Amino acid sequence: MLDLKIINGKLIDAERAQLLDLELGIKDGKIVCIGKDLPDAEQVIDAKGHYVSPGFIDIHMHEEDYSLTKKKEWDIAECMLRMGVTTAVIGNCGSNRQWPFEVEETIAKQGNPVNYLSYIGHNFLRGLVGNHDTKAESSPAQIEQMARMVRDAVDDGAIGVSYGIEYAQGMTFEEEVGICKYIKGRRELLLAAHYRDDGDKAIPSIVEMADLCRTIDIPFQISHLSSCSALGFMKESLDLIDKYNAEGLDLSVDAYPYAAFSTTIGSDVFLPDCFEHWGVGPDTIELTEPPYQNMRCTWDIYEDARKNYPHMYAIAHVMREDEIVMEMAHPKVMVASDGVYRNHKGHPRGAGTFPRFLGKYVRDEKVCDLYTGIRKITSMPAERLRLGDRKGLLKVGYDADITIFDYDIIIDKAVFGDPQVPPLGIDWVIVNGKPACRGTEILSHNCGRYIRRP
Ligand SMILES: [Zn+2]
Repeated sequence: MLDLKIINGKLIDAERAQLLDLELGIKDGKIVCIGKDLPDAEQVIDAKGHYVSPGFIDIHMHEEDYSLTKKKEWDIAECMLRMGVTTAVIGNCGSNRQWPFEVEETIAKQGNPVNYLSYIGHNFLRGLVGNHDTKAESSPAQIEQMARMVRDAVDDGAIGVSYGIEYAQGMTFEEEVGICKYIKGRRELLLAAHYRDDGDKAIPSIVEMADLCRTIDIPFQISHLSSCSALGFMKESLDLIDKYNAEGLDLSVDAYPYAAFSTTIGSDVFLPDCFEHWGVGPDTIELTEPPYQNMRCTWDIYEDARKNYPHMYAIAHVMREDEIVMEMAHPKVMVASDGVYRNHKGHPRGAGTFPRFLGKYVRDEKVCDLYTGIRKITSMPAERLRLGDRKGLLKVGYDADITIFDYDIIIDKAVFGDPQVPPLGIDWVIVNGKPACRGTEILSHNCGRYIRRP
């Protein structure tokens, strides 16, 4: 007797670029059979001609702040589940809300809507060793202390180190390399960075990340490249990344499918010279919480918000759509949400990225074919995370993380004024073999697990 059986669906075999009219059987959290006339099951899902895909893997997002959610509710993890994500990577852009092992403990106790893996973030560690000055270099003693913390976090199962360079411009290359002293050359790990600068400084920022990859000798994920380079420098950036890969560096990229980025208004990203640098005015910046909720900045509002509401998320409508399209189509680019919310406010990418990518960019604009699109959100991130032998494909023996969707209607519904509206077209999301979400209704909040680095 199977636990669960999916019938009448079209199974997506993205590797061979085919749709299979087959049933899929699940037992004890794993896919145990794929074929016709499978054995009986406790529960049967009729996928009625819709697509049955490996669960989406979000290689770049930001976990909720448990101090705000009081560990009693989920903010972003519910949005992830509703848009078809079954596994997500937290601790990006140098930032953790808490130690990865603490997240692991919380999830062991109360579960989580989706599976999590975690980086250990450089900026988080800077805070722990007492360097709170974003413009200051860390001392040799602080760097040594951080290097040990990195080693410990990786020993505890973190996947590698993330950097938020733009958020702490005092970080030198020596510091970035120094904190990896004890993990150098461990190619089973992964480094990721939010670049140092964007727009006309995108290229030197990519050179710095490639130098980190080469010097620390660990594969490297360039985070949300569009918010670095889609201000007029995307083609040069992608060409440079291709050149580095041809030379033997292992660089890959993630990106979210929106032409606007979001971060806190008080951060260094919004220093006054940003406008000159991007060639825009303050009216391109939209604020997300009272007293400026859904308002565009004037100079006065910009200054007041930075001074008095520095933690409020702001949305910068500054990126170029044609460059987003160019990036999505590139073979080294995976799609990831970079989702982040504070009190349910923020950028709609945290609730819409994957349906938007499939509906707007793959189906409607044909930026790539369906199978390539599915690979960018399933098997590519799975391989990058070294989970390729258990996630990212519909295969017997693999984890039963599955998303069933209606390709005719799938689309994002979250918008800048209302950033957590669930998407259209997600029928079912199955996490570790259990139905966790049906349509927009969450059936279980605790099917997800914390995954230590394989
Ligand atoms: Zn970032």
